[in-house]
Amino acid sequence: MSAKAFDLIVIGAGPGGYVAAIRAAQLGLKVVIVERENLGGICLNWGCIPTKAMLRSSEVFHLMHRAKEFGLGAENITYDLDAVVKRSRGVAKQLSSGIGHLMKKNKITVVMGGATIPAKGRVTVKTDKGTEELSAPNIVLATGARARELPGLEADGDLVWSYRHALVPPHMPKKLLVIGSGAIGIEFASFYNTLGADTTVVEVMDRILPVEDEEIASFARKSFQKQGMTILEKSTVKQLDRAKGSVTAHIETGGKVEKMTFDTVISAVGIVGNTEGLGLEALGVTIDRTHVVTDAYCRTGVEGLYAIGDIAGAPWLAHKASHEGVMVAELIAGGHPHPVKPESIAGCTYCHPQIASVGLTEAKAKAAGHDVKVGRFPFIGNGKAIALGEAEGMIKTVFDAKTGELLGAHMVGTEVTELIQGYVIGRTLETTEEDLMNTVFPHPTLSEMMHESVLDAYGRALHF
Ligand SMILES: Cc1cc2nc3c(=O)[nH]c(=O)nc-3n(C[C@H](O)[C@H](O)[C@H](O)COP(=O)(O)OP(=O)(O)OC[C@H]3O[C@@H](n4cnc5c(N)ncnc54)[C@H](O)[C@@H]3O)c2cc1C
Repeated sequence: MSAKAFDLIVIGAGPGGYVAAIRAAQLGLKVVIVERENLGGICLNWGCIPTKAMLRSSEVFHLMHRAKEFGLGAENITYDLDAVVKRSRGVAKQLSSGIGHLMKKNKITVVMGGATIPAKGRVTVKTDKGTEELSAPNIVLATGARARELPGLEADGDLVWSYRHALVPPHMPKKLLVIGSGAIGIEFASFYNTLGADTTVVEVMDRILPVEDEEIASFARKSFQKQGMTILEKSTVKQLDRAKGSVTAHIETGGKVEKMTFDTVISAVGIVGNTEGLGLEALGVTIDRTHVVTDAYCRTGVEGLYAIGDIAGAPWLAHKASHEGVMVAELIAGGHPHPVKPESIAGCTYCHPQIASVGLTEAKAKAAGHDVKVGRFPFIGNGKAIALGEAEGMIKTVFDAKTGELLGAHMVGTEVTELIQGYVIGRTLETTEEDLMNTVFPHPTLSEMMHESVLDAYGRALHF
């Protein structure tokens, strides 16, 4: 069978792959994208978007319980889990079909099926109707990742859930154990806890949200505990005994094992890259702990083969995947793009209160040898936060004391996932404390706290 020829084959239509395809098409390349499941990948179908839709429901539910505070009345506040999930699936579907329109608009050929790479420049796709052969001088691998399964803690969809099950739950958990307190674990813990599940979070590291600044993680922990969550840090789930309708977890803390019984467990212990079955080893691609090893330009070392997004390693974030997609498309089209700088990629967690950060934590900045100046500003000192009834939170900034470089920014509180971009732009433009201090922030906004945090690092905070 003769292969259909293209300039670029993209494998995987998540935020890495579909964005790479669009940018390449904009630059005049003839592009085909291959997807085995849903356009939009994990992000739109089983990740970023449906979780945010569900979290919005729990946020509104939480606010309805606070109606009185705002001079409003709301009686008999209830939820219908099926309707919450239906809304979330509807949002995911709307966005996934939007990607179909974008492919059409940009004249990108879409082939639905599983891809393998039998040789350099060749891709075989198993579709519903048979096999399709494709060829191109360039291939972008954007096959993403899936939930990591630990032995004994494997998801079964009934008592033990992966993130996919937790997005289409077969029942509402009454007593829930969440294993792992990264962004995914904490978001589900926040959602189910707000809806009334008695939630316990177990984290093996010395604190929840282990990649976040210690002070922010500790602030978040206190807030979650106030909301009724049980948080077990430096603890490991050693074993799950599954019975009919319940799971007994053996949880080790400081050498002591305690048995606790739950009706539902969510395993959120990380992800592994989708590297198998593609033929990568035969091509000579280096794989390290389930991720394809690349250089700063996402080149795999095999001519014409690039890897972007989750399959290419941390940070496992949609915006990192998309940015790499644009960069690689421009490179393939003959441009001279800048490599993606991981240290300027913000991480956001949409729990209640939200967490957002970019750059170095205070501890990492010190460990890297920086003499630091640290600023902090609490939400209670901000007029807009008080007006919103959201006075819980803080913004922390870390500067290099010698140069004034903004090394990192860390936030916890309402809508901080929208605020963080201000500091991301600051870091991208390599602003110093002086630029930030001389910036006029609109009033009344939550963003004023970003200004105050910078001022505080230099002993000049005005409202606290
Ligand atoms: C519950 C959850 C919540 C998340 N929330 C956020 C968030 O709020 N913000 C954020 O930035 N990130 C979030 N993420 C992470 C985000 O979803 C990923 O970083 C992002 O989807 C990675 O994009 P990607 O294009 O690399 O891969 P994916 O989105 O994983 O897409 C890869 C695609 O490749 C396809 N594929 C795989 N193998 C083949 C093959 N052989 N042939 C054809 N197709 C193939 C898959 O079907 C998939 O559609 C979340 C993840 C989860 C699980």
